[in-house]
Amino acid sequence: MIIVLKPRVTDQQITHILDKLKDLKLKPTVSKGIERTIIGVIGDEAKLRLQPLEAYAGVEKVMAVQTPYKMVSREFHKDSSVIKLGKGVVIGGKKVVIMAGPCTIETRERLLKLARIAKGEGATVLRGGAFKPRTSPYDFQGLGETGLKYLVEARRKTGLLSVTEMMDVRDLPLFEKYADIIQIGARNMQNYNLLKEVGRSHKPVLLKRGMANTIQEFLMAAEYIYSQGNHSLILCERGMRSFESTTRFSLDIGAIPVLKAKTHLPVVVDPSHPAGNRTYVPAIARAGVAAGADGIIVEIHDKPEEAVCDGPQALLPEMFAELMVEMRAIARAIGRDI
Ligand code: PEP
Ligand code: MN
Repeated sequence: MIIVLKPRVTDQQITHILDKLKDLKLKPTVSKGIERTIIGVIGDEAKLRLQPLEAYAGVEKVMAVQTPYKMVSREFHKDSSVIKLGKGVVIGGKKVVIMAGPCTIETRERLLKLARIAKGEGATVLRGGAFKPRTSPYDFQGLGETGLKYLVEARRKTGLLSVTEMMDVRDLPLFEKYADIIQIGARNMQNYNLLKEVGRSHKPVLLKRGMANTIQEFLMAAEYIYSQGNHSLILCERGMRSFESTTRFSLDIGAIPVLKAKTHLPVVVDPSHPAGNRTYVPAIARAGVAAGADGIIVEIHDKPEEAVCDGPQALLPEMFAELMVEMRAIARAIGRDI
């Protein structure tokens, strides 16, 4: 339920309404917009039937949220969320945030080299997995804590923030210590215990859409994190399973405007995993920016033939440099910036 307050509502009137909601064991969230303040309410709304809130001073109207996801919906929070990631980097505003790096952290030297390349071209976030969700248990599983420490060193040397995948609730203390943004991968989008755990963290979370999940399921997963109190949440479209086999996944380009309309959360596009092949990555990345993505997370590698994971889809440094120029022009054409 959403309580829309009158333009000249006083702090005292707001406190009075919040006290009432808390007495009824409902969970209110206050959003102060430029023109209006609204209060979102989660909980058993039936309790309010006997005591209509419309009667309270300062209340203009009370509306039910029609969607099953509440707090992440645009109805709940009219303005787009602008999320502070650290070191002055924000996502959800005018600037499109570029996150680049290897699929997985391989060695300290290679990570630092790729970090310098990413930084040199204008990325502000370094991607790289230290805990990898591999299809085969015999494949490289990631460097674990050592990899996270390399990300910290890369941040110290280049200023780049890190985004890195967490797969196990027991690892949260490690991620809180070393990571800047916690990635929840496509395979774990519906791991509800993991979602609740990162929902209690104060670290920003990048939630990837499952490869066979609807937008509604994606937003319900986001609601798990948001409703636990973590509002630094970013959504990521990374392609769906389809009958098509020339690409690895089918990027749902339409999901970008849909998500921007249905939620207030920033939306990032991953062009690498749907492409599966570096030839297709630039076009998908450009389409992502054109469709309104707030960020791009892309895999790069200086020697992809030596990569232990996802080498074929990694952009070579010169391809990444060219793509940055193109994305900048597209961003400018739609009133944004990189
Ligand atoms: C990744 O980002 O390297 C990754 C494994 O992504 P996804 O969860 O989208 O497959
Ligand atoms: Mn990958």
